[in-house]
Amino acid sequence: MGRGGLRLLRRLAERGYAAYFVGGCVRDALLGRPVKDIDIATAAKPDTVLELFPEAIPTGLKHGTVTVPLGSWHYEVTTFRAESDYSDGRHPDSVSFLDDVEGDLERRDFTVNAMAVDAEGRLVDPFGGRRDLEAKRLRAVGDPAARFGEDALRMLRFVRFAAEYGFAADEPTWAEAKLGAPGLAVVAMERVAAELSRMIGGSDPYRALALLRESELLRWTKERLRLPRALGLANDDGADSAAPSAEDPLRRLAEVGDELARWALWFDRMELGPDEAEGVCRALRTSGAFEGALRRTLAFHAALRGAPTELARRAWIGAALRQGEEAARRWLTLEPAYRGLPAFDWTAPYFDAGAAWLDEMPAKTLKELAIGGADVLAAAGGRRGGPWTADLLGRLLEEAALGELANEREALLTRVRSLLPQYGAGN
Ligand code: ATP
Ligand code: MG
Repeated sequence: MGRGGLRLLRRLAERGYAAYFVGGCVRDALLGRPVKDIDIATAAKPDTVLELFPEAIPTGLKHGTVTVPLGSWHYEVTTFRAESDYSDGRHPDSVSFLDDVEGDLERRDFTVNAMAVDAEGRLVDPFGGRRDLEAKRLRAVGDPAARFGEDALRMLRFVRFAAEYGFAADEPTWAEAKLGAPGLAVVAMERVAAELSRMIGGSDPYRALALLRESELLRWTKERLRLPRALGLANDDGADSAAPSAEDPLRRLAEVGDELARWALWFDRMELGPDEAEGVCRALRTSGAFEGALRRTLAFHAALRGAPTELARRAWIGAALRQGEEAARRWLTLEPAYRGLPAFDWTAPYFDAGAAWLDEMPAKTLKELAIGGADVLAAAGGRRGGPWTADLLGRLLEEAALGELANEREALLTRVRSLLPQYGAGN
């Protein structure tokens, strides 16, 4: 877990402070998975850590957390602590510092997340996390109902970890997550969205969706996410069906590289269009950029779906002009989900030729058109600009993009003059 991490543990140990790698990095290291971020737990108080490591940044003093940048890693160093009295179902009323690691592990959500390793490689595993990891079992530390009651987000974390690592849902824990679903109403939508996005972007989003459907967790969130009950899943076969419906592109979500494209595919399966997607994005407090990109990808997909085969190229180019090249390129990443499914054979011509059509487009935006609004107005004899100008330019762009009209000044002006009568401007 990085030389820096070991140095850090040793420096704390030299001063007499117990220190461990904890949580996700221990779990991932035991699984032989790449470690993303490294958390360290120690008996040293935050001010001691700040003193020992002059480069440390006080990132979360309230929770006892200090960030120590060493080499290319940022280590989150947190003082052993206990949390108590979650009267609101989302954060502890008080945090108290502890002297030993066991107490710190006790506050953690699942046994596989509640292990620690010291600088000598000794594992501290009071709840049988390693055994659960080997048995692929996701189990709460202690009483699941109480743990979900303390922090309702843990129910969504349960779904995320179960899907991400292919864990079986441990029955008492999973049963409590389903019972406790209404508790999610107090959790900030930002936290819900972060979990959801890690599920969709994760290694088995289909399984995550199946577990979400089964538990109805999303329905109970603060904003009562208005998603179809079935979440777009083709049939009622639950999470571990032996008879997969080969027709459902959602089953292949994990093969789609682009995360936003995955969202678009999921929304399309739920039959949510761009406007409905916008509502969901608002509820999830996503960024405007995310919302816009999702809308455009959905609109792009819808534009292709309705097009007759013989007009595929025209539909593709028209959609790329309206929704932007980025939406078109993103849509292409959906190929592994749709390719070969009979119900989606209309997508084949686009996956076959779409990239080439984009590459060949002589102009993709109004900026690339060889004339602009001022030229149109001059050709119209000084008539005032208005919506008609944009409309006419859009038409020129489409003809140029399709290769029906040369993207050259003279050719475009000739075409403007021939179109002007249709725009009520006379000769
Ligand atoms: P990831 O790979 O997603 O980062 P992680 O296990 O590191 O997984 P984090 O959210 O980074 O998850 O949290 C680090 C550790 O803190 C967890 O392993 C767990 O021990 C503990 N933890 C995090 N969130 C909670 C929570 N809501 N309730 C209890 N313990 C938590
Ligand atoms: Mg982590």
